[in-house]
Amino acid sequence: MKQNYDVVIVGGGAAGIGIAKTLDFLNKANLKQNENAPSISFCVLERHEVGASFLRWPKEMRFISPSFLSNPFGLIDLNAISPDTSPAFTLDTEHPSGIEYAHYLKQIVKHFELPVYEGVSVAQIRVAEGGYWLETLASPQTMPNKLHAKAIIWAGGEFQHPKNKPFRGSEHCIHNSSIKTWTQLSGKEYVVIGGYESGIDAAIQLSKLNKKAHVVASSPTWEKSSADPSLVLSPYTKGRLRAAMRTGLVTLEGNVKVLSVDRVGNKYHLTACDQDGALKRMIHNQAPILATGFESSARQISHLFDWRLDGMPLVNEVDESTLHTGVFLVGPSLRHDQHILCFVYKFRQRFAVVAHTIAERLGVDTSPLDEYRRQGMFLDDLSCCGGGCTC
Ligand SMILES: Cc1cc2nc3c(=O)[nH]c(=O)nc-3n(C[C@H](O)[C@H](O)[C@H](O)COP(=O)(O)OP(=O)(O)OC[C@H]3O[C@@H](n4cnc5c(N)ncnc54)[C@H](O)[C@@H]3O)c2cc1C
Repeated sequence: MKQNYDVVIVGGGAAGIGIAKTLDFLNKANLKQNENAPSISFCVLERHEVGASFLRWPKEMRFISPSFLSNPFGLIDLNAISPDTSPAFTLDTEHPSGIEYAHYLKQIVKHFELPVYEGVSVAQIRVAEGGYWLETLASPQTMPNKLHAKAIIWAGGEFQHPKNKPFRGSEHCIHNSSIKTWTQLSGKEYVVIGGYESGIDAAIQLSKLNKKAHVVASSPTWEKSSADPSLVLSPYTKGRLRAAMRTGLVTLEGNVKVLSVDRVGNKYHLTACDQDGALKRMIHNQAPILATGFESSARQISHLFDWRLDGMPLVNEVDESTLHTGVFLVGPSLRHDQHILCFVYKFRQRFAVVAHTIAERLGVDTSPLDEYRRQGMFLDDLSCCGGGCTC
C-alpha cells in the first residue's frame, strides 16, 4: 500500500467494488491504447472483508432482483456491477443469497486483481491541502494508518447501520439485520414491525418454519402500486407473500404506527396508533422483530456532506458532496430529487459518471467510458427515469 493516491474508495461491497472495477476498466483501456497513458491510482479500504454486508444477511435471505445472463444481448444482468460480469453466470442462480453474492464480488476482485485492502477501517477523514487525509485503524506496522487522496469515494453502504431506535423501547426488539438464520428463533408467534421488503421477508421466513407472523406497518405496502420498484414490494416478494398467506400463518395490518414497546415481566407490550390517532395495544410473548430499515453509513463522515430532509447525503449532478469538492458518494444512499437509486441496477449506472468526473479532472482520457454508455451503464441524464408503466 502506498501513502498517496488519486482516489481512495471506502467500502468493499457492491458499490465499492463496482466503482473500483470501473476505474480499473478505464486504466486498462487507456494503457492498452498507449502504454504511457496517464492512469488513476486508487485503492479500496474495507473494514472487514469484501462483501461483508452480504455475508451478514440472514442465511435464508435472497436477492429480490433477479439475475439472468442477458449481457451478450445488451441487457446487463440486473445484479451485475460491471458490463462484463454476471452473478447468474458466476453463481448459477437467479436469486443469490448474501453468501453467494459476496462470492461473486470476491471473484471480481481476484480476477481483475483490484487493489483492495481488507481489515482496514477508515476512522476519520480530514480536509487537507490538495485533497483529504484518511486515518485508518490499521496497524502502522502492516500498512500506513494515514493516507492522502485527491478524491474520496464513499461506498460504506447501509446494511451495517440499521435504524434500530425508531421508537421508545426498541432496544427490547430484534432488528432483522442481526438475525443470522431464522431458525435461531424458538418462539411460535412473532410480531414484525415494518412492511417493506425486509419485514415481509421476515414474515415469509417465519411461516416457512411453521411460525405465525403478524406484520404491522405504518403503510400497507402490499396494497401499493407504483412504477418505481424502490417504492413497492418486488414481484418476487409479492409471489412469495401470496404463498405464505395461503398457509394462514401470516397476517398483515397496515396504517398502524408503533409508538413504543415495554417489557413487562416476560411479555412485550406494544403501543401503536392507527391513521386516525386512536391508540391500540398489543401483547406478545416474543421480542418483536424490527424491520425498520437502515441509514446511510455516510453519517460516519457527516461533516463532509450537507444532508437532505430524508436523511440522505446531498450530492450534485456528478454525485459529489455539495460541501466538499472531491468527496463522492456511490451506492444505495444515492438520491437525486425524487429519484431513489437504492438497487444495484440503479446505482451502478452512476459509477461511470463519478469515474468520468475524476478522470477528467486528472487529465486522464475518458473516451473508454463510452463502452459503459453503450452498455447502458452510464446514466448522466436522470430526466428519462421514472414515469408510469402503461399496462
Ligand atoms: C436487506 C437488504 C436487501 C437488499 N436487497 C437488494 C436486492 O435484492 N437487489 C438490489 O439490487 N439491491 C438490494 N439491496 C440494496 C443494495 O444492493 C445493498 O444495500 C448493497 O449491499 C449495497 O452495496 P454497498 O456496497 O453500497 O453496501 P455494502 O454491501 O453494505 O458495502 C459497504 C461496505 O463498506 C464497509 N465499510 C463501511 N464503513 C467503513 C469504514 N469506515 N471503513 C472501511 N470500510 C467500511 C462495510 O464493511 C461494507 O463491506 C438490499 C439492501 C438491503 C439492506
